[in-house]
Amino acid sequence: MKYLIKKTCFIFLEWIFVNHLFRYLNRGKIKVLLYHNIIDSRLFFKNAISKKSFIKQLKYLNKYYNIVTLSQDGTWIGLSKKKVNILITFDDGFINNYEVAMPILLDFGINAYFFLISDCVEEGVVPCFIKRQYPNHDCIPEFRTVNKIQVKEMLQKGMNIGSHTISHNDLSKFSITEAVYDADKSKKYLKTILENNVESFAFPWGFYKEEQLPSIKKIFRRIFTVKHGFNLKDDHILHRNEVDEDYQMFATASGLLDFLKCLFQQKN
Ligand SMILES: [Zn+2]
Repeated sequence: MKYLIKKTCFIFLEWIFVNHLFRYLNRGKIKVLLYHNIIDSRLFFKNAISKKSFIKQLKYLNKYYNIVTLSQDGTWIGLSKKKVNILITFDDGFINNYEVAMPILLDFGINAYFFLISDCVEEGVVPCFIKRQYPNHDCIPEFRTVNKIQVKEMLQKGMNIGSHTISHNDLSKFSITEAVYDADKSKKYLKTILENNVESFAFPWGFYKEEQLPSIKKIFRRIFTVKHGFNLKDDHILHRNEVDEDYQMFATASGLLDFLKCLFQQKN
């Protein structure tokens, strides 16, 4: 019931052009969208977006927003002052990112950013956090990640690759030294296989300790969290909004959802 009310509200707000207004107010800023899996069933991944929905969302973004690229060395390409700029990112590097998402992105001419777990990339194995959750993980092909051959192909085709740590650990439980070791080792490994710069990093689940940031900033030029909000060109620590269903995404991209969350948090 709550879900239906929420969905109806988002549809209504889109219909009466509220997203249009927020797009105008936030023009020139950068919104980073976070996807995980493009797969039709939510059986294994609660945050999965169906292929049909992903295509619908990209069509919408293409029409109303300026979709930008962030290069391997962390430079923004194609920023606009007249529209909200959108960067599309993916975390974890599950195989559907390569098999399903990349061909769609290529059709739209979009260069997305993929944050990969470096220990998984050698052979495209199941990440440890999935192994802990699903004892029968070996029987489920969807749990594999991309391997190093596929990652190289992704890079060649214009996608960009960042680090998502060595093995998807919760860095908020690490000391500064341990977090730096993890971030640095994952960067070095990805650099070796890609034969390219790796200047972007995303915290698993967005978990970190504030005191780790100055040291990790020395390793990577761009660091992505899951704190909601817009970004500016020179930001080192970037906000990201996770994408859900279509109308939630419409309100996320425009900044309406951030505004509503702020409003309700202030009231509580
Ligand atoms: Zn992750």
